[in-house]
Amino acid sequence: MAPRDRRGCDVCGAESTADLYDQRFVRFDDASGLDGYTVVACERCGFMYADGLPGQDVFDRYYRDLSKYESHDTEGDIVPWKAVIHHAIVADIAERLPDRKIRILDVGSSSGHLISLFRNSGYRDAIGFDPSPRCRELARELYGVEVINTSISQMAFGGERFDLILMASVLEHLRDLERTLGELRGLLREGGALWVEVPDAARFADFASSPFQQFSLEHINFFTTGTLERLMQRAGLRTSSTWTTIRQVGSMDDPGLDGLFVRDVPAVLATHDTAGVAAVRSYVALSEQLERALCERLEGLAASGEPVAVWGTGSLMLHLMNHPVFRRLNITAFVDSNANYQGKTIGGVPVIGPAALAGHDEPILIVTHAAQEEILAAIRDRYGLSNRVFSFLGDAADWPGSASTVGA
Ligand SMILES: [Zn+2]
Repeated sequence: MAPRDRRGCDVCGAESTADLYDQRFVRFDDASGLDGYTVVACERCGFMYADGLPGQDVFDRYYRDLSKYESHDTEGDIVPWKAVIHHAIVADIAERLPDRKIRILDVGSSSGHLISLFRNSGYRDAIGFDPSPRCRELARELYGVEVINTSISQMAFGGERFDLILMASVLEHLRDLERTLGELRGLLREGGALWVEVPDAARFADFASSPFQQFSLEHINFFTTGTLERLMQRAGLRTSSTWTTIRQVGSMDDPGLDGLFVRDVPAVLATHDTAGVAAVRSYVALSEQLERALCERLEGLAASGEPVAVWGTGSLMLHLMNHPVFRRLNITAFVDSNANYQGKTIGGVPVIGPAALAGHDEPILIVTHAAQEEILAAIRDRYGLSNRVFSFLGDAADWPGSASTVGA
């Protein structure tokens, strides 16, 4: 058993917590991947986060070897829903910070698509930061955008200063929030602003369409407006404004929380966010209901003994693998288009690429949170497969064992 980290609260420093949900994932047979965490709420301030994480080395390996984040953009075309989100972000910022002469840094810029949109909107002094050398190359090739690879602390030491630092969908991944925000503050000019967008935990329950989609492999911090403001205050950043968004991620609507936080003296804020914790407790209850509904659908398929190929090796699949009905399925292969996963095995069953499905005639079961429509389209159009497909999006009546197929 690898050592587990007790994190303590990044917002107030307290260590006593209440458990909200124990999220478990099945790992690949070579022991790669993450096996889960406990979602907890700080008893002093109400900040919610993943505790009992595997060590940082395990995470580093995961991001290096398995994470899908880089591969999203490697084919040159950014996925369409992500491009839509990026356009909305530029519009949101331009409305609040119309001065086109400001110097902008996008932290976690990946291959530079968002920064290229800022540049196209007249913010010419805009660059990216990403630790991946491949992202730096892609940004230059695809968009002619500069992406820096050195560490944040090296940039600060070199005297770099910015008027606006962007962090879209980054904070929810970070283990050491206090250190990171301290370093970023050092990169801001006096009066400069940090903009962040994170998932809005206060509205998880309002947008629960798939069980525990918010407790994914990579997300380890669950912010509400109150705890985000407190975190920024602790880092010496004053709340200028916050607002909420709805972003379409694949086929799902996702609640977002945005804020602009300025480098000057922060105001004093309320201490405990009880409403946020209550909201995430309802989200857990709702996810448990959704999970029961999914697993009920699988009962017929499991009882039929029919062989099935499972498409998807992400958070939802690795989570559901813990469920007894999932273990009774007659799974012939797992399918994933990410080459990092191909060749691995899960419970002795191989992970193959979509092209290797040619010649398989068993039905395909799609198990993913947000990408079901994309995968359905890929099965039919890109790979030309005519296998039967079971998707949680589709009608339950088409599934084995459902009322309409009994005796048919
Ligand atoms: Zn706390």
